[in-house]
This record gives sequence, structure tokens and C-alpha cells, in this order.
Amino acid sequence: MHEPEAIELRVVRLPLVTPFRSGHATRTHREVVVVRALVADGPDGWGECVAEVEPTYWPEYTAGALHVLQHHLVPRVLAGAPLQEVRGHHMAKAALEVALLDARLRAEGRSVADFLGADRTEVSTGIALGITETVEELVDTALVWCRQGHRALKLKVTPGWDAVPARAVRAAVGPDVALLVDANGTYRSDFPGHLAALASLGSLAAPPLALVAIEQPFPPDDLVGHVALAQQIDVPVCLDESIGSLADLDTALGLGFRGAVNLKVGRVGGLLEAHRIHQRSQDEGLDLRAGGMLETGLGRALNLAVAALPGCTLPPDLGPSTRYFARDITPPFHDRDGTLTVPRGPGLGVEPIEEVLDEVTENQLILRAGE
Ligand code: MG
Repeated sequence: MHEPEAIELRVVRLPLVTPFRSGHATRTHREVVVVRALVADGPDGWGECVAEVEPTYWPEYTAGALHVLQHHLVPRVLAGAPLQEVRGHHMAKAALEVALLDARLRAEGRSVADFLGADRTEVSTGIALGITETVEELVDTALVWCRQGHRALKLKVTPGWDAVPARAVRAAVGPDVALLVDANGTYRSDFPGHLAALASLGSLAAPPLALVAIEQPFPPDDLVGHVALAQQIDVPVCLDESIGSLADLDTALGLGFRGAVNLKVGRVGGLLEAHRIHQRSQDEGLDLRAGGMLETGLGRALNLAVAALPGCTLPPDLGPSTRYFARDITPPFHDRDGTLTVPRGPGLGVEPIEEVLDEVTENQLILRAGE
């Protein structure tokens, strides 16, 4: 592997086209750490840290990720020490791992999709719809996306905003659109009212809501609650925030979990761990879906490669770039009737546009080996 001679860290901040509200946060901007591995004898590699500004989805957050990268992770990489010496900080580690891998694969002329074993050339989109002021606003937004050819929608839900908006969207879009809901851990497995709401969402009886999955109803550490719910409802429970590693998945399986897993490279600490989780899920017959974190084009390219893996059988969190940003740091991804092409160029297959990257960079530093 080409050793990096330096690592560049940038905090970039992009306005979202529309504010995005989930059960735990409202976002108007996306601020991420972009990692660039500078290699003396080969092309640079790029990675994106998907931590958000506040630690409400996951314990990591942008400023913390920048700190741990600068003071603990990058110095180890530049000294040839293993990242595993540092506990946690999965999103920061993943960004660095992806940047290093991207540099290597670019030098080899090989795509990340090929490296991972992705067997599809294109993937269907899945549009995540946040919580809105009114049900009518949500339905109108859902219809706009469906009219543009998108065939899968994920609705953010939270106690008090679940069955009514979900049924309204189902009635409006008809039976052929795949519909998922994602609670981001905002229900409690010890609240009877919450269990009743989830039982209603998870029933295949009339009226036909027919969800593909209910994602992360309970807090991350409530594996027992998730396993019990999965045994009680007809619709698969999908674990997102509960799975930070292959060991977490094995714990869930050991408790008897049957259902689905949201696969996010950042959350699990890198591509290699994501690949192990993909393998275990396939071996155990669990469905996977490629998750998203409102990534820039760098992360979107990576997510497209993940979504093209054979085990990713459920709709992903993947939309065209215009869903998120008026202007992305990479050339935009456009869909064709709800289908996106998986990049097959070297590495991630996309690179930032330097002028745009410079314009949206809030903070930049370069760390060199031996300094
Ligand atoms: Mg989720």
C-alpha cells in the first residue's frame, strides 16, 4: 500500500436544499469532515466523515471527529500504528480508512464497487422524507418524488407522528411504492402505548400499510426490546443505530434476532467491518439496506457501491444529489427514472471539484508524517 505522506482534514459546510427533520434532530446544513490522503507516489484518496454537528444520531459529532482525527487517528496512521488502538470513534476511523483505501484503489485503477464485490451496475433510489408540519405537506412531497419515478420512500416517524402520516402517504402513492419507516430510536419498549403504535404499523392486516420494514424503533442499546418486537409483528424490524460492529450483530443474533440491518460504513467503523457484517447477514439470511447520512458526493459514491452489494435487497437511503444540495462538492449524481448508476471509475469513482471544495471549506489543516 502506498503510505500517505500527509493527511488533509477539512470541515466543509453545505446548505441543504430543504431542512430535514427526523425524530431526533432538524438539519438545515450538512457539515462534515473531508479527509484527503496525500500519497507521494500515487493519486490522492478521499473520505468523508458522516458524523453530524450534534451527537443525536450517534455519539460522534463533527467537532469531536475533527479532534480525534487530528490528535489520535491521523498521527497513528502517519506513524504506521493501528487505528484499533483507539476505542470507538467509528465514523472518524471510517473516513480515514476510506481515504487510504481510495488512494490505493485509484493507484491500482480499481473501483470500490469492484473491491467490495458489488454485483449490480445500477441501484434503485430510496427517498427519505423527514417529519413535516402537516400530513398534507408530507403527502405532497411524497407525490412529487413518486411522479419523478422514485419507487421507494422512507418516512421518519416518532411517537405522535406515525400511523396517520404513513397511512396517508400509502393511500396517496398506491400499493406499488415500497414504504419504510424509521424512528431513530424514539419509541420505548417499556411504554405500552408505543408498543401498540408499533404493532399497528407492523401489522399486515387491513388497512394495508404494507411496510417493507420498521427501522430502529427503540434506543440503540435496547437489543432485547428489538428482538421481542421483531417476534411480535409481521413487518421486519431493521436495526440501524444498534449495530456498531459485527459483534453487535452477533449479540443480536445470539438473542434470537430475525429481521434486517441498515448497513452504514461510517457507523460500523469502515468498509472492512461493513463487509464482514454484509457477509454475516447473508449467511444468516438477514436482509440489508444501504443507509445514508445526507452525504456529499464522496459519501454518496461509497453508498452506491454498498447498495450494489448482493445482500442489499431492501431499498436504500439514496437519492439524486439534487435531493440534498444545490451544489455538491463532486459532480452531481442524477437518477434516471429512480435509478442511479454505480460509479465504476478508480477508487470512489468521483473526486471533489477543487474550487467548490475550497468555497465551502470552513477549516483546513494538513498533518505530515514525522511532524
Ligand atoms: Mg435509520
